[in-house]
Amino acid sequence: MFILSADFELLWAHRCQDDKKGRFLTAHQNRVREDIYALLSVLEQYEIPSTWAVVGHLFLDHCDKHDGVPHPHMPRFEERWYSCDPCTDIRRHPLFYGRDIVQRIIASPVENELGYHSFSHVRFSECDRVVAQAEINEGLKIASECGLTLKSFVFPQNRIGNVQVLKEHHFEIYRGPNRAGKHINKTILRRAPLYFFTHLIPPPVEAIWREGIWELPSSMKFYSASFLSALPFRAKNGIAKAIKENKIFHVFIHPEDFVANPALLDKFDQTLQFVAKKRDQSQIEVVTMGRLAESLNQTGQC
Ligand SMILES: [Zn+2]
Ligand SMILES: [Zn+2]
Repeated sequence: MFILSADFELLWAHRCQDDKKGRFLTAHQNRVREDIYALLSVLEQYEIPSTWAVVGHLFLDHCDKHDGVPHPHMPRFEERWYSCDPCTDIRRHPLFYGRDIVQRIIASPVENELGYHSFSHVRFSECDRVVAQAEINEGLKIASECGLTLKSFVFPQNRIGNVQVLKEHHFEIYRGPNRAGKHINKTILRRAPLYFFTHLIPPPVEAIWREGIWELPSSMKFYSASFLSALPFRAKNGIAKAIKENKIFHVFIHPEDFVANPALLDKFDQTLQFVAKKRDQSQIEVVTMGRLAESLNQTGQC
């Protein structure tokens, strides 16, 4: 199987614009939508459905302060957590609201899935249960007003925590650790060769049952600060291995990376072309995280 998940956050991961990417996105905010729609068009061209894990605030097209306080009913992860929220609307601050993009994702001719990425990009590994519950409840409430059911979750910064809260709110699957990541839990001696091999051939993965919810690790992040041109080669190696081992190749992207790096779209196009070819030869199936969970829940096996 081939699965693609996207962490869709616009400025919420960089919301105070105090890092390079946040400053870049803000400076180029007029072309952010154009670039994200170009990415969606490539996915449509190859008929590849994907799971878009959306930051809940992006379901909105505006928000207001109440007695001078943004989102007063939301418990704070940190004291000034909402200090960057402009509390205006999509026209004045297009990187804090994304209802138009969410609608475009849903309206796509391919059957995309809307997943969830917390309401305000809180690190679930560090927040307490009260904050985690509020982050989940707020997104589910807004999504249900839009007629959507969310059942797939991606943790902000991929930091896993409060999994029990996801189970209680009937999420069925979340994205687990990146198997081609930095292997920080390994010793330095093990880390270097592992890093090399998992980058050359990103590892296929399998879903793991976590007593009430599925964890699906990822095979690779489709981005590299210094080796963009190697991405299709690496992804093709991983896909070939997944076919051979009858496993899943799970890629994740940050759509905002396609704004900051225009050359990335061509590399992604080459990879999707390969995926579509293998699918048309009936060698792989392309599904979303939600569809995978659905079929695992029916069959009980990967
Ligand atoms: Zn707000
Ligand atoms: Zn994120």
